[in-house]
Amino acid sequence: MLNLPIYLDNNATTPIDPAVLNAMMPYLTNQFGNAASRSHSFGWVAEEAVKLAREQVAALTGAHSSEIIFTSGATEAINLAIKGVIEIYADSGKHIITCATEHKAVLDTCKHLEKSGVEITLLPVQHNGIINITDLKKAIRKDTLLITVMYANNETGVLQPIREIGAIAREHNILFFTDATQAVGKIPVHVIEDNIDLLCLSAHKIYGPKGIGALYVRRKNPRVRLSPQIDGGGHEKGLRSGTLNVPGIAALGKAAELCRSQMQEEALRIKKLRDKLEYALVSIGGVTVNGDTAHRLPNVTNLSFSNIKGNQLLTAITKTIAVSSGSACTSANPEPSHVLKAMGIADELAKNSIRFGLGRFTTGEEIEYCIEEVTRILKKLRNV
Ligand SMILES: *Cc1c(COP(=O)(O)O)cnc(C)c1O
Repeated sequence: MLNLPIYLDNNATTPIDPAVLNAMMPYLTNQFGNAASRSHSFGWVAEEAVKLAREQVAALTGAHSSEIIFTSGATEAINLAIKGVIEIYADSGKHIITCATEHKAVLDTCKHLEKSGVEITLLPVQHNGIINITDLKKAIRKDTLLITVMYANNETGVLQPIREIGAIAREHNILFFTDATQAVGKIPVHVIEDNIDLLCLSAHKIYGPKGIGALYVRRKNPRVRLSPQIDGGGHEKGLRSGTLNVPGIAALGKAAELCRSQMQEEALRIKKLRDKLEYALVSIGGVTVNGDTAHRLPNVTNLSFSNIKGNQLLTAITKTIAVSSGSACTSANPEPSHVLKAMGIADELAKNSIRFGLGRFTTGEEIEYCIEEVTRILKKLRNV
């Protein structure tokens, strides 16, 4: 039996995997200790759970467990990475290079720093959503401290040439931070091979709970220093004070472990369904794929629908299928998404763009339904 509505908004958030819930349950109930309590077994048990989770997150990203700092999510990790670098290395530069299609957490953090004299270069993207490496090289200055370019875009799934960007940053002694919130768990990510100095991830994008994430901070070649953004008891090596969210951390660890063991198989299965959906909808005509289809996450397709008035399409589809528009908001007068805009997609078309984000629990039956339903609605709205 098909349960409606169907959830195809896995880039916004994912449901919790039952195995993840099981892994966090003890720490929400009888194992409630504070991981910083050194004098009794409640504390030791919690500390042990945190230790395991740190290893599981490290294993998923090619990091060492001592390089993982737990945060409340990717947004906090992004703030810590960017502000932390800018503050601690203030004497050696004040320039950041980033990209027009970044998540708002990166763009707004940069905007905030601009007010205090930090200079930002916003790299444009090509029509396919990928930056031009020549633009990046040209943007580098003597006082460039940080390059921050996302691994995979949350709206289109487009992958940036991370390894190449990392190599360029290394060559110029510039730190490289990547927001890998959408990439981690879906495709192989390796901080050493990809020349990454700082990387963020979030549990609720990989079948874990909301409110927990992590920042990878490289400890050698080079050793990256950060200025903490939250001061207090000196947790997480003084980089992020505050009593550890042990249930959340245990859950993130389990989520990472599941991704690591299932990624290859899962990505193949999901990609097949995504490709089927995309092929069927594009075949209708007047439907185009946004973003590079060769360098893309396996689970998402962002489609623009022509010859549709206003917001009718999204309104009709979301009666039974939970998807989101490329638009940043759903108010009466939606602004077209800054991502699609940066890719040079016209406002009218951008407003009629929909992101389909498949996930671990998406079934073939659901995709069949989605194809039929979107086809039916499209024909109706186009009066054909
Ligand atoms: C979801 C997301 C974020 C924000 O993550 P939170 O953990 O919700 O703060 C940042 N960047 C990207 C690319 C995302 O998809």
